[in-house]
Amino acid sequence: MIKQAPLVMIPGPTPVAEPIRQAMAVQTYGHTYGGFVEIYKECLAGLKTIFQADHMIVAGGAGTLSMEMGLINTVRAGEAILVVSHGVFGDRFTAIAKALGITVDTLTCPPGERVALSEIEAKLSAGNYKAITLTHVDTSSGVMAQVKEVGQLAHKYNALFILDGVCASAASPEPMKDYGIDVLVTTCQKAFGTPPGLLMVAFNDRALARREELGTVPSYYSDWKNWLPIMENPSLYFATPPVNHIVALNESVKMILAEGLDARYARHERIARSFRAGLAGLGMSCVATEAALAPTLSVIYYPEGVDDVAFRAKMEEYDVFVVGALASLKGKAFRVGHMGNICINELVMTLYAIERSLAAVGAQVVPGAGVGAAWAQWHKG
Ligand code: PMP
Repeated sequence: MIKQAPLVMIPGPTPVAEPIRQAMAVQTYGHTYGGFVEIYKECLAGLKTIFQADHMIVAGGAGTLSMEMGLINTVRAGEAILVVSHGVFGDRFTAIAKALGITVDTLTCPPGERVALSEIEAKLSAGNYKAITLTHVDTSSGVMAQVKEVGQLAHKYNALFILDGVCASAASPEPMKDYGIDVLVTTCQKAFGTPPGLLMVAFNDRALARREELGTVPSYYSDWKNWLPIMENPSLYFATPPVNHIVALNESVKMILAEGLDARYARHERIARSFRAGLAGLGMSCVATEAALAPTLSVIYYPEGVDDVAFRAKMEEYDVFVVGALASLKGKAFRVGHMGNICINELVMTLYAIERSLAAVGAQVVPGAGVGAAWAQWHKG
C-alpha cells in the first residue's frame, strides 16, 4: 500500500507549505548569479525587518552552529557568561561555552518552571559576566522565557544579551531593539517552515563592536567577519551557500511579511489555546506552568499507565508524527509542535489521532472530546 508521509507535528521540522516546497525545487542557480544574489538580498532584508536587526547572517548549518557562532564572536576563552536554562537546549549553551573554554555559570529550575528574575538579577549583580544566554522557548520543557525582562536585566548589568530563538522565531515576537536583544541565533525548520539546513544569526552594532574588540576568534567558518562582506554583497564568495534553501527561506519570509507579524503571532497564540483546550478536553495537561506555556509547542504528560513507545507507534500508524520527551521527562510526556504554516485543520487531525491512539493503548477516552473542545476554543478566537 502506498502511504503518504505522516503529518509532521513535531517541534521542528514542521510541515512545509506548498509555495516553500516549490521554491526549494527550483533548478539550482549558480551562487553568484545575479538573479540569486537579488533573492539572497531580499531574504536578508526581510529578516532584518522581522527582527529589527542591524546585521544578519544566513548560511548553511543547523541551529546548534548558530548558537556557537553567537558565543564565539562575542566571548573570549577565560571570560565568564551566565546561562539561564529551562531545559536541554538551555543546557546546550553551557556545553558550547565549555567547549570554547568560556567560564560558565548556569541557572536551572525544575522542568516546566522558569528561573525567577530575582535569581537572575542576583547572579548578574554579583558576577562579572560578558554575556547572558536565554532560550526563548526551550523545546524540551515547552517553557517560554521572559525575554523582555531578561533583556532589561542584561543591559542593567552591562552583559551582552544572546537569545536562542530557534523554537520561537517567526511565531513569537523578537524585536531586537525593543527587547534589548544583542544577538539572536535561530534556524529555519521550525516556525519559518523551511526544510532544515540554514542557520540565521542576527546582531546589533553593540555585538559587532564586541566582535571587533576580540581581534581574532578561534574559528574560520563561524567568524562573523568572514560572512559580513558576503551579506553586504552576495555576489562575492566565502563558502558556497545552500542556494535552494535560501530561495525557499526567502519564500517563507515573504509569506511571513504578507501575513503580517502581529497577525502571525496572534495565529500562533490562538492555535496554542485551541490545542490546549483540546488536551484539557481529554483530561491531559502540559509540563509548563500556565504562565510559561509556549505558543509553539506543547510538552504533554501521559495519562497514568500509557506507554510512550506504544502510543507514538499508534500515532504514526494514524499518520501523525509526534516525538517523545527528553532527559528526565523521557517516557512521561510527549511533544507536539504547533508552529509555522499550519492552522486548525492540522490540530484537529492531531487531536483525533491522539484520541484514537490513547484508546488503542487502553486509556479511557470519550471520542471527540479533544477535537470538540479545540473547535469550541478556536471559534471563541
Ligand atoms: N535550540 C532549541 C530551542 C532547539 O529546539 C533546537 C533544536 N531542537 C536547537 C537549539 C538546536 O537546533 P538544531 O537541531 O537545528 O541544531
